[in-house]
Parts: sequence; C-alpha cells; structure tokens
Amino acid sequence: MVANGAEGEPRSAKDATLLAASPHLVIDGLLLAGRAIGAAEFHLVTTAARLPNVSRAVAERADAVAIRVHEVPEAFLSGEASAVIRAIGGGPSLPRDKAMRLSSSGLGGRPTLLHNVETLAQTALIARFGATWFRRLGTESEPGTRLVTVSGGRLAPTVREVVGGMTIASLVEAAGGTTDGLGAVLVGGYHGAWLPATHLRARLTRQELAPFGATPGAGILVLLDSHRCGLRESSAIANYLAEQSARQCGPCANGLPKMAEVLERLARGSRDASLPAEVRRLAALVRGRGSCHHPDGTAQLVLSALTVFASDVDAHLAGGCLADGVLANEVAA
Ligand code: SF4
Repeated sequence: MVANGAEGEPRSAKDATLLAASPHLVIDGLLLAGRAIGAAEFHLVTTAARLPNVSRAVAERADAVAIRVHEVPEAFLSGEASAVIRAIGGGPSLPRDKAMRLSSSGLGGRPTLLHNVETLAQTALIARFGATWFRRLGTESEPGTRLVTVSGGRLAPTVREVVGGMTIASLVEAAGGTTDGLGAVLVGGYHGAWLPATHLRARLTRQELAPFGATPGAGILVLLDSHRCGLRESSAIANYLAEQSARQCGPCANGLPKMAEVLERLARGSRDASLPAEVRRLAALVRGRGSCHHPDGTAQLVLSALTVFASDVDAHLAGGCLADGVLANEVAA
C-alpha cells in the first residue's frame, strides 16, 4: 500500500501543504486502505522538504504498523505512479518503460494499491464521520471538499480547501485573486488545458470542463493575465515538459522536443504559416505512443494552446502579438 505525496507538478502545492498541516490524516488513510486490502507493506512517498515532518509523524504512531517513508526528487515525472513504485524499489524516479497495471504487478511484482495523499486523507475523514457527512458539502457529482492550488497572474501560489463543484471564477476569488484582466486559466496543471476568460463560470467538474479537453485533475489553476502571451507561456511549458521526458520511448524522447521547438518558433514570431499544422501533426504522432501519459498530456496542453489562443496564432503569423498590443491588421496595414 503506497501513499503518493511526490507531487511532481511544479504548479501544485496541495500535497506538500497537506503533509505539513495534517500528516496524521494521511497516515490514517494509508493504514485504513492498506488494512482493507490486507497489505503486507506500507509506504509513504514525499519530497525532501516534507521528509522531516512526515518522518516525525510516522514515528509518533505507536499504533501503526511499520510505515516506510521514502524521499523522491522534485521532478515532473517523480509523481507518476510507476515512477513512485520504481523509486521505492531502489530504482530511478522515472516511469516504467512498459505499461503495466499496478494492481497486478506493482512493488516487487506484487499487486499494489497507490493513492494520492489527499485521497487517503479524505478516506480517513469519511471513515471517521461517514459518507452522509462528506456529502453535506459540494454537489452530487463532486461531493465534499477538495484542495486546489491557484497561482499565476499577480497571485503567489495559494492552496485552499474548497467545496466541490465551485466555478473557476469563484476558486480564483477564494484564493484571493481576481478574474479582472485575466486572459485565460490553465486548468489541471502542465498536462491540463487552457480555459478562455470568457468561460470562467465553468465549474471544476469533469462534465463542465470536458468541452475544453480539461479535467479537474489535481486541482491546479494557473492564471494568465490578458497582457501576457498565451503562446509564449505554452511554449515555455512545452519546453519544460520536453526536458522532463525520461527518454525511454522514441515518440516521447524525439517527438516532444520537436513539437516544443515548432511551437517555440510560432511563439517567437516566425511567420511560417505551416507551423500550426506541423504542431498538430507532431501532437498526433506522439499521442498514445508512450509507456506513460507524458506524451499525451504534453500534446493536450499544446493543442489546447492552439485552440484557445487561435487569435494569437493569427497575430503571430501576421507579425504581431496581441499581448504586445500589436494587432495583426495593424501590422498588415
Ligand atoms: S512516455 Fe516518455 S516519460 Fe513516459 S515512459 Fe516513455 S519516455 Fe518516459
């Protein structure tokens, strides 16, 4: 039984916040879930910053079976489920190069249940107070509360516990931000999708985010001011994601850097009209071709940028940039 607090996503701080504030709740959930499946081993994975606090909490649990605490690096792929399993087994914090279900072949080849630390903390609360209590807040499809991390714009990274089913606009405000002057919001982190500012009344639910290719994911919202260029922001993220590839699968090792490079040319103002189609072609090539979700998640982010920032694409191809206040027709004139 594994509690995953690796939180590789750079725009998420919820797991670190939870492990700092309520490590015993996570341990409660870990023990509950592990006992329910008759687990022989219990593991808790976190990063260096949270290690002392988590280790202290585990040591305080005289009632607990032995829980082994593991440190993993702060890197994007460290939190991927199979990367966590490899790290616990003494290997690198990188995804397996062959897709395998952890429920049949996990740690040491044995069936393994792995959950995010927030899920386990919620499980502990439901066990203590009951399902009806949990459902008192939130909506039918998004009951209870969840943790979100909001950052970007003029807002420092902020973690909030919010009721399920809130609108994106309300979440921004709950974190102390404002929707005034926002151009778009990246929902779900670097493997997520952009939501245009015109749709901030959408709720953080699978159903309402589906038309944008987004999911609530780990509750990450990244705000983009309207004076910032969505293409340049997306290009920086795509470059970061390409660097994070474990370079074990060809489409990921070669396809992501190429896709990021073409997007960067577009973002930097190349007027080659074939670039958007080339980004789409490369995204289609890498999708579904890796052992883990990394190529798919990266392709989704890039495709979402081309859709949501379509007017920026036109402006760039015309030699301008909407974020700089230089409109395509002004340039053409
Ligand atoms: S798809 Fe990429 S990140 Fe995932 S296992 Fe293959 S090389 Fe590694």
